[in-house]
Amino acid sequence: MAWDFETDPAFQKKLDWIEDFMRDEVEPLSHLGMAVFSILGREKFIKPLQQKVRAQGLWACHLGPELGGQGFGQLKLALMNEKLGRNGLAPSVFGCQAPDSGNAEIIAHYGTDRQKAQYLWPLLNGEIRSAFSMSEPTGGSDPLTFTTRAVLDGKDWVINGEKWFSTNARYSQVLVLYAVTDPDAKDPYRRTSIFLVPTDTPGVEILRNVGVGAGGEIGGGTEGYVRYTDVRLPYDALLGDRGAAFVIAQVRLGGGRVHHAMRTVGACRHALDLMCQRAVSRSTRDGRLADLQLVQADLADSWIALQSFRLMVLHTAWLIDKHQDYQRVRKDIAAIKVMTPKVYHDIATKAAHLHGALGVSNEMPFMRMVTSALVMGIADGPTEVHKVTLAKQILKDYTPDNDLFPSYHIPKLQDEARARFKTELGELKDAYAAQRATEKA
Ligand SMILES: Cc1cc2nc3c(=O)[nH]c(=O)nc-3n(C[C@H](O)[C@H](O)[C@H](O)COP(=O)(O)OP(=O)(O)OC[C@H]3O[C@@H](n4cnc5c(N)ncnc54)[C@H](O)[C@@H]3O)c2cc1C
Repeated sequence: MAWDFETDPAFQKKLDWIEDFMRDEVEPLSHLGMAVFSILGREKFIKPLQQKVRAQGLWACHLGPELGGQGFGQLKLALMNEKLGRNGLAPSVFGCQAPDSGNAEIIAHYGTDRQKAQYLWPLLNGEIRSAFSMSEPTGGSDPLTFTTRAVLDGKDWVINGEKWFSTNARYSQVLVLYAVTDPDAKDPYRRTSIFLVPTDTPGVEILRNVGVGAGGEIGGGTEGYVRYTDVRLPYDALLGDRGAAFVIAQVRLGGGRVHHAMRTVGACRHALDLMCQRAVSRSTRDGRLADLQLVQADLADSWIALQSFRLMVLHTAWLIDKHQDYQRVRKDIAAIKVMTPKVYHDIATKAAHLHGALGVSNEMPFMRMVTSALVMGIADGPTEVHKVTLAKQILKDYTPDNDLFPSYHIPKLQDEARARFKTELGELKDAYAAQRATEKA
């Protein structure tokens, strides 16, 4: 019997260190704005914090020890990510920022020694950055509709096509590109391959950098609209086997979805904390906001939603540790992928609302949170697609039984039960009749 909700005391000490470090060192930096992400800002502010994280043995915890990580497993990672999720800067400080974390994971899994030397170790050391270039401007939800083509010309691949929302392409030295290599393969899931494309390869062109959310300069965002025109690459630019893109991408996205959910637990907790603080601090003529029943109802609903979400995320992490296979846990991963934007959106909007005008201002985090919640419902596949996956996984355990319908089978089950317990039923009836007779007398 091994259900246990306790955190091991040694790991709790690490979590306590993270809590203090986030409050004292990471959160103050995030008030300096985007300057922190400049080359000088990284050198001056982020690197020293990264050193402290390394010294604590908390660097790149999503990776195993052979890759310079800690091999904590997903459950410990979930508890850690809850703390990191409070602040957007934290993943960079702890060496687990998307999309580099997922890209490093697949290069570690599928890369050759040369690819690891060129990209993996520099990525893990934070020396280079990467982008994942999969979605296309004509539609991202269905990978079977992608048209970017890689064609063999002698020993080289020649690539043509367009990709959309390749996050951080403008800052990246390598693009992890998803392209059709075998359009006629019988199995539609074996038609595409993944390539590692140095961003400075001739023919790679960033057409626009799309921004997310309201405000910001048009074209000055982080989501790269990338055109590939006659991009020529050697054969060994392939990552993994030819035709294996779908499988590789699922490995990458499976982990990424869980890690987003883990960090969202932390972001929701932050919103709920702010909401509670506001409720006990602000008064109307009827008393504190905290004393009003409709406010209490919102707080209760938010707490229940967060607690259920958190337990589902932790359970999914535990299942991944147990099975060591994202595919076997895809039902649970799909469920938390669906739950993430909903819980985040509901708590962030309630928190914003309770803060009144301040809540919708750019001095509080709620508007950014609401946008992030919308992003969570789209990036790595829209909610609808994950609901379909979840439903299919649930239905897998059921087979048709034509005896049950069109009329349901209760009468049949009753007949079977009566036949099975015929003797006992007779005794029961006699005993019941005797009891009624005694009661009447
Ligand atoms: C902030 C952000 C960062 C991103 N980063 C990356 C990245 O680094 N690399 C990358 O390759 N991509 C990235 N994406 C792209 C993301 O993967 C796609 O946006 C996503 O797959 C949806 O594709 P789409 O935007 O083309 O929407 P569409 O495919 O056009 O879908 C639009 C809507 O149609 C509906 N829909 C679509 N398919 C179905 C279906 N089967 N059943 C029911 N309804 C459906 C859904 O409501 C969906 O939201 C990012 C997106 C965002 C928002």
